[in-house]
Amino acid sequence: MGTGLRESWRAILSSGDMPSRRPLLRKNNESNIRGLYIIGDLAGAPVIKLAMAQGCEVIEHIAAQPDARGDDPRVFDLVVVGAGAAGLNAALAAQEKGLRVLVLEKGKIANTIENFPEGKWVYAEPDASPPKGKLWLDGARKEDLIRRWHQIVRENRLDVRTEEGLTGLVRERDGTFRLVSERAAYRARRVILASGQRGNPRKLGVPGEDREQVYHRLYCPRHYRNEDILVVGGGNSAVEAALVLAEQNRVRLSYRGRQFTRLFKDNERRLREAVAQKRIELVLESRVLEFGEREAVLEAARDGGQERVAVPYDHAFVLIGADLPVAFLKSLGIQLENEWEGSLLRAAALTFLVLLGLWFAGGQASGGLLPLDAVPRALGGLLAAAALAGLFALGFRGDRYAWLGVSFLVSYTIYGIKVGAGQEFWPYRGWGYEAASLFGRPASFWYTVLYTVVMTVFGIQALKRWGLDCRDKFQIWRYVSLLSFQWIFFFLIPEFLFQWAVRYQWVGERLASDPTFAEQAWRSYGLAYAWPLFFYTFFFDPHLVWVVWGVTLTFVLIPLFAIWHGKRYCSWVCGCGGLAETLGDRWRHLAPKGPKSIQWEWMNLAVLVFAVAVTALMLLRDAVALFLEPAAWGLNAYRLIVDIWLVGILPVTLYPFLGGKVWCRYWCPLAKLMQLFSKVFTRVRVSRFAIYPNDKCIACGECTRNCQVGIDVMSFALKQDALNNVNSSCIGCGICVSVCPMDVLSFQPVRALVQIAAPAAAR
Ligand SMILES: Cc1cc2nc3c(=O)[nH]c(=O)nc-3n(C[C@H](O)[C@H](O)[C@H](O)COP(=O)(O)OP(=O)(O)OC[C@H]3O[C@@H](n4cnc5c(N)ncnc54)[C@H](O)[C@@H]3O)c2cc1C
Ligand code: SF4
Ligand code: SF4
Repeated sequence: MGTGLRESWRAILSSGDMPSRRPLLRKNNESNIRGLYIIGDLAGAPVIKLAMAQGCEVIEHIAAQPDARGDDPRVFDLVVVGAGAAGLNAALAAQEKGLRVLVLEKGKIANTIENFPEGKWVYAEPDASPPKGKLWLDGARKEDLIRRWHQIVRENRLDVRTEEGLTGLVRERDGTFRLVSERAAYRARRVILASGQRGNPRKLGVPGEDREQVYHRLYCPRHYRNEDILVVGGGNSAVEAALVLAEQNRVRLSYRGRQFTRLFKDNERRLREAVAQKRIELVLESRVLEFGEREAVLEAARDGGQERVAVPYDHAFVLIGADLPVAFLKSLGIQLENEWEGSLLRAAALTFLVLLGLWFAGGQASGGLLPLDAVPRALGGLLAAAALAGLFALGFRGDRYAWLGVSFLVSYTIYGIKVGAGQEFWPYRGWGYEAASLFGRPASFWYTVLYTVVMTVFGIQALKRWGLDCRDKFQIWRYVSLLSFQWIFFFLIPEFLFQWAVRYQWVGERLASDPTFAEQAWRSYGLAYAWPLFFYTFFFDPHLVWVVWGVTLTFVLIPLFAIWHGKRYCSWVCGCGGLAETLGDRWRHLAPKGPKSIQWEWMNLAVLVFAVAVTALMLLRDAVALFLEPAAWGLNAYRLIVDIWLVGILPVTLYPFLGGKVWCRYWCPLAKLMQLFSKVFTRVRVSRFAIYPNDKCIACGECTRNCQVGIDVMSFALKQDALNNVNSSCIGCGICVSVCPMDVLSFQPVRALVQIAAPAAAR
């Protein structure tokens, strides 16, 4: 593969990681290593209160295990790594449950909070929920909070070994852990890793960054007076640092972006004021090239080009966030989410061998020059089974490409067979459809059964996850709606009710006896699937009823729906979106994110144009003979490219790797059409669909992480900008609203109809 291609490939596969990378976690926060749990900041808890809650919850689970407590005095029941909010609360809860527990802490108790700027007010968000567990938490100065925590540790005689960081960990054959610290070795039945990620500040990686006047945190702002200070970063901590330092110093703030997208509204306002009053010099679109002795070299945008500028500095603060301590986690054997380890070529070769084996096994292999028909079918079966076993073995050893191969094989087989008798894809041609036509029913029927069963099983799980467990009525109704549409409109009606309606003349004698209507049961999918998603609405000799319904659905009902609900059809009605919201739900956090991934959404428009062009050709072909061939060619191409590969094989293959919404977001022409309708309605201020943030965002990133269509919801929340279909491709699933721990986001209430498109500032 060329370097460019390899880079693009890598960018696509890892784009799900962009805002926040995490260790791979199973149920109850257990890592890939059985008995090793990860909580707090490392596991995505964004604030102290939520980190504390995770500490309590994981102990509920651990203490309930039959082997939670042991008799061997040399083996601790639990070792907690990290004496921060999550670790301390977990250890206190474990002690209360009668577990023998030890805490290892690399620095001091509550080291991260110790490192906050002096006198910093610690917020106890989210306000609405009380803190869980034995640690005290309320809004307080950091010094007071730490004093209270020390007192709690003392009173509970918690065994915390400070200045003793964990350096290594091995799971022994008997299932216990051997932990090695900077001073000793310990054994434990279970381990909780609560080591946070603040100890790993992100670096620029430029020369001179290790100079003593370049810092990665601000501890004591009052210490600096009358000095030249360079602050690097564009987040809240950089801006807050610049603002506080500007009170007594000359401050420059260098940020690589053209504008700030992740600031609290208040910070943005204060920064604007400070810049206007010349208390801070802002250098946007700039990056540090080097820190010299007294000057830093920046490359900054100027007059359409790039220019090198030298800026004097006495102190520099590089405050660009923290990185997941990947090396540390990997050294412990912990797997991360979305890790692309393994070999693409090896996985592709094995995948091909599975198909080749199936070709021989299907008895259709016949050779030109080679005597392929002489290969015994059993040998083909054996080859397929061995190659498949190879993919599984590699997959279980962490080769993600092997899982990609398995996922492709499943989708390709299902779609390659159901495509029609005699038209099956290689290697199923000539035998696949027949083999899958069971109990007198065609393979296409069993495909619909499979689809509905999968959606139901995973739909119930998703309903429990987002609806029942969180007591969220919106999500309960959404999943009930998706499952009902699947069962009624995309299964029972086309497979049973339509035929009964014809047989028992429920549709009237005239329609029931008209073969154009009665013999095209497949058209009843078009009752809820609108053109161009249901692409064949207007050709292959449709009955007038279907033409009228098709026009009404696509050009009257869908636009009307878009006024109130934007693109909610994708997340409440559609079966394609339904599979993504159910089977694909567990991978929603892997949806591609970032500006590049949004640029790729142009593909939807290309498919829509393709659909319009082929439909026009098909409608013209009978009137104008010239269009006969292009229409046939266009139809075949559309069927193969869009209706088989883009809607069926590729997106489902990619569910576990790029989240469930690849089709809906990048290729569905109906989604694009709805986006256009909704956009126009928003622009002319009749749309009633938008999400509004309040001012409580704590920048935890949960909304962005869980958005299946990769919208950076957090940046809207931080700026308190309304999110609609002009500025995003939101499908109104409401998951961002549900996951937000601060109840920041809400849909536009139905009664405030006319202000929907008013600019945020006007509210
Ligand atoms: C500048 C700033 C301001 C913030 N303000 C607030 C606020 O006002 N309110 C709020 O709720 N949240 C705030 N937060 C977030 C808050 O700090 C975190 O959510 C919280 O500290 C997470 O707790 P934790 O226990 O998971 O991790 P941490 O508190 O980071 O604790 C991890 C502990 O593990 C230790 N450790 C690391 N590696 C090892 C090792 N190898 N062995 C042993 N120990 C190890 C560390 O020394 C540390 O003590 C702020 C964060 C920052 C950076
Ligand atoms: S922004 Fe929210 S409602 Fe819209 S698609 Fe993303 S998660 Fe769903
Ligand atoms: S709006 Fe998003 S980033 Fe802000 S608190 Fe809610 S979930 Fe977190």
